Amino acid sequence: MTDSDFEQDEQKANVPPFEEAGELDEDIVLALENQVVGGADGPAGLKDPRSLYPDEEFEPRSQDYPGFTAAMRPRPDHGEHSYVGHHRMTGYRTLITGADSGIGRAAAIAYSREGADVAFTYLPEEEQDAAHTVQLIEDAGSRVLALPGDLQDEHFCREVIARTVREFGGLDVLVNNAGFQMSTGKGIEDLSSEQFDRTFKTNVYALFWLSKAGLPHLQPGSSIINVSSIQGYDPSPSLIDYAATKAAIINLTYSLAESLGPQGIRVNAVAPGPIWTPLQPPTQPSEKIAHFGENTPLGRAGQPAELAATFVLLATSEASYMSGSVIGVTGGRHLS
Ligand code: NAD
Ligand code: MG
Repeated sequence: MTDSDFEQDEQKANVPPFEEAGELDEDIVLALENQVVGGADGPAGLKDPRSLYPDEEFEPRSQDYPGFTAAMRPRPDHGEHSYVGHHRMTGYRTLITGADSGIGRAAAIAYSREGADVAFTYLPEEEQDAAHTVQLIEDAGSRVLALPGDLQDEHFCREVIARTVREFGGLDVLVNNAGFQMSTGKGIEDLSSEQFDRTFKTNVYALFWLSKAGLPHLQPGSSIINVSSIQGYDPSPSLIDYAATKAAIINLTYSLAESLGPQGIRVNAVAPGPIWTPLQPPTQPSEKIAHFGENTPLGRAGQPAELAATFVLLATSEASYMSGSVIGVTGGRHLS
């Protein structure tokens, strides 16, 4: 979104532009800018979810895997201009995999603005996106640790936990967010053993290795948040391997919640529907990207920013009795 888009939004909402807000507290300025205060149109924060974002065409495959944020049209919204923290995670030590871009970056922005320190992993070729996430976390006044590497490697997973604990002095929240997908033309005929292996190593094995290495550092009150998908319930024939990993993640979430509950550690999962992130354009057919998310009841794809509050809720004691849950953020499509 450009600055002039924001100016137009400000005029629509009849709120003073940022620079005219004068002496106002920074949080209030942000709230005004993002229209979370009441206006002539109705109660504060009541917004039509169908038209929250401009109805722009999604640009199809224009870059190779892994995608980069800067090359996406339109540019995804990670909450850069909208997420307002309320000190909900002051002093939390968090680790989010794959937070250079997409859903992970939105969670990193939210966690850091809630007062948490954020370590995150990314692939070495994603340095440009990672540098941007580092800047956003630092701007929030939090400590940041950026860890490039391949999560298909068990040694790297153990190293990620060790370095986070060394740097932050502990670990309170582990978000297993990184994931790989690549659609195959017809289905199983086009699915190679190499791809099947890569998808399971990245999405399932890394979750196992990171959770196992992280466990000795988690204390009562800590939590693990896994990222599944609606594909875990309703698999597409072109995403056989990916969908199977996302079903495995749901199952692992249930069993880990059972086994870690007696230690006071909660384990939950988020299951997104179609979300506009760099994962999608390089891994899906062009015609699917052009109509991405249109088949949801809300009629549009989601933005990474729309998942941030769910990651915050699951990390904090506001969700103290939630464990073994899978929360769908799907634009109205049901899980199961
Ligand atoms: P994204 O591409 O922005 O983020 C995924 C990240 O995973 C990448 O940035 C990369 O750093 C990391 N990654 C991939 N392979 C890796 C490897 N071998 N080693 C280390 N890191 C690796 O895309 P996103 O959509 O934000 O994805 C985040 C999670 O959300 C994934 O688990 C994805 O399956 C899930 N999800 C996304 C959607 C969607 O529509 N975007 C829907 C359902 C679930
Ligand atoms: Mg990325």
